[in-house]
Amino acid sequence: MKTRTQGRTGLGGFRLGMPLVAVFVIAALVAANAAVVAVVAARSHPRATNWPGPSFTFWPERRWSEVEEAIDALAGAKRLSRSVLGTVEYRGTSYPVHLLSFAARGPDRPRVLLVGSIHGTEPAGGRALLELADGMVRDPSLLADVAVDIVPIANPWGWVHGYRYTGNGEDINRDFASARTQESVLLRGLMRERGPYDLVMDLHESKKAGYFVYEYLPPDEGLGSSFTGLVEAAGERLEDRYHEWFWRAEDGVLRVPTVALWWVALARQLSLEHYARLHGTRHAYTVETPVDDELADRVRIHRRAVAVFVRRITDEAARAGDAAR
Ligand SMILES: [Zn+2]
Repeated sequence: MKTRTQGRTGLGGFRLGMPLVAVFVIAALVAANAAVVAVVAARSHPRATNWPGPSFTFWPERRWSEVEEAIDALAGAKRLSRSVLGTVEYRGTSYPVHLLSFAARGPDRPRVLLVGSIHGTEPAGGRALLELADGMVRDPSLLADVAVDIVPIANPWGWVHGYRYTGNGEDINRDFASARTQESVLLRGLMRERGPYDLVMDLHESKKAGYFVYEYLPPDEGLGSSFTGLVEAAGERLEDRYHEWFWRAEDGVLRVPTVALWWVALARQLSLEHYARLHGTRHAYTVETPVDDELADRVRIHRRAVAVFVRRITDEAARAGDAAR
């Protein structure tokens, strides 16, 4: 009898406790979220304190005139309009941030934004995009089913000086929430004016051993599996060890749940990819090539990734068009 009485009391207590349990669970979730935000903010690069000491060696071989010559050589192409997003200035030198806009062959085609070298120590993306623009001028059928905006060198000061950050030591690719850097202001303005794009690709490099791509979409919706395929086909190494937070790159895809975008937003650490994803672009990716690999191989993978991802986007648009008809 005693046991049954205790059981009933326990059950009654449970019923009374339900609202309390709900409050506790919500409080725990809020606290966990706040903790993650705090840790993200704390572990991210400090602002304006990255300026190197006197022993830092810049890469003296980077000449901006090479970029200007490559862009001048594109003059007169029918699909292309060239413009300058704006000028960035540090320590008495200023550089333009170039925008190359290629029109699509027909109206209402998908629109693509390609960005390179937002980190100055990651040259392959910028090189790949300058080569791609040259290829599109020589062969107007290349990527003709999409409108393409290209910002080949998003961090010209860092590119010239072989330096990851801006001339103020700030990481542009953590600055898309705050927009304190001149570069992120220009790129956000571009995405607001001409976006949302159907595809955004931000071409980076890393010290990891293999090639990989960030994907904030479920596996069956994102284009990551195409990246795995193209790297395998090229005979290069896929990154499958790199951990970031709770997630690990697998077969060259670092897949992060979409909800994590809100943590990064709360921590004010948005990258260009994050910003695009939160502002209407479903397909936004950061592509990473291993900086210790041969430059030609890294450039080749970036170009291949752009070609394959654009094809997937145009296929998707064609299927959506068929379904609407
Ligand atoms: Zn980078």
